[in-house]
Amino acid sequence: MGPRPNLLTRRAAGVASTTLALLLSTAAVGVVPAASAFSAAPDGACMEPADSHADARMKPGGAAKHDPNELTVNQVREREADMAAALRERANYRTGAGATALATVTIPVVVHVIQENTTRAGGNIPDSMITSQINVLNQAYAGATGGAVTAFAFRLDRINRVTNPSWYPIVQGSSAERSMKSSLRTGGKNTLNIYLGELSNNLLGWATFPQRNLSSMDGVVVLSESLPGGTSTNYNQGDTGTHEVGHWLNLYHTFQGGCGGSGDSVSDTPAEASPAYQCPTGRNTCSATGLDPITNFMDYTYDSCMYQFTPGQASRMLTAWNAYRAA
Ligand SMILES: [Zn+2]
Repeated sequence: MGPRPNLLTRRAAGVASTTLALLLSTAAVGVVPAASAFSAAPDGACMEPADSHADARMKPGGAAKHDPNELTVNQVREREADMAAALRERANYRTGAGATALATVTIPVVVHVIQENTTRAGGNIPDSMITSQINVLNQAYAGATGGAVTAFAFRLDRINRVTNPSWYPIVQGSSAERSMKSSLRTGGKNTLNIYLGELSNNLLGWATFPQRNLSSMDGVVVLSESLPGGTSTNYNQGDTGTHEVGHWLNLYHTFQGGCGGSGDSVSDTPAEASPAYQCPTGRNTCSATGLDPITNFMDYTYDSCMYQFTPGQASRMLTAWNAYRAA
């Protein structure tokens, strides 16, 4: 599969006015040490690194640091068992009640814009970037960019602007993140809370997977300049948001588990040994059938490269919705 086709209202890349390196250097304040990033994460969190160090990561034998995003085999096993249990619970609950699983879902969205001050560099992005992000989500999840049609649509209910220097940048796994979310999170398990801001540790975003009991940590955190029209070169068409919401709807990375085992627990995403960066057309890291799914939203490629979910991922997200997030 090749690069993302030009479809509909996808914006061309190249609107950057600030280099990613500069942008990310400002995020280095108060970072969580990489080695502890995963252990510091709330259960089930996922973190996305930008690939500004992709060369170091990708050099043979020269990986700069362990990628903190992958779940262990045991964590996946536990999550899969939990979803099966949640489905059984709901099936029993429905017996005699006449309730049926949902086939289409409109997700209410609340966007929290975390700002250090009222400048753009301080996180004050315009409303237009946020409405563009919602459009990107709706196109991606409707299959309008070339992928499978999913059950999901997104409705922006509110933009909540918060100026609080102690929450800026948003530091993954910090007490400040917990405080921010505890103060701001709104709605039930079906409400998507998106937190925008500068992020710690070169991250583009992170997300929580669904859980049976609603946690105040539930939601997705996204680098504000990754929104459409943002300054994060190669990551400014809104697909960080699409990717993180995929996790929030229970998708794993396409490279989860590498070449062996159950991989990402989706049958129509070919196995992939490791994250793909940039847009390596023809990449094929596993002997199993199929090229690496580099155009899938759940890989790590450039926004201009990724444009699709598979039918299997669409099905998994809907199953998870009915297990975890449906009323
Ligand atoms: Zn991810």
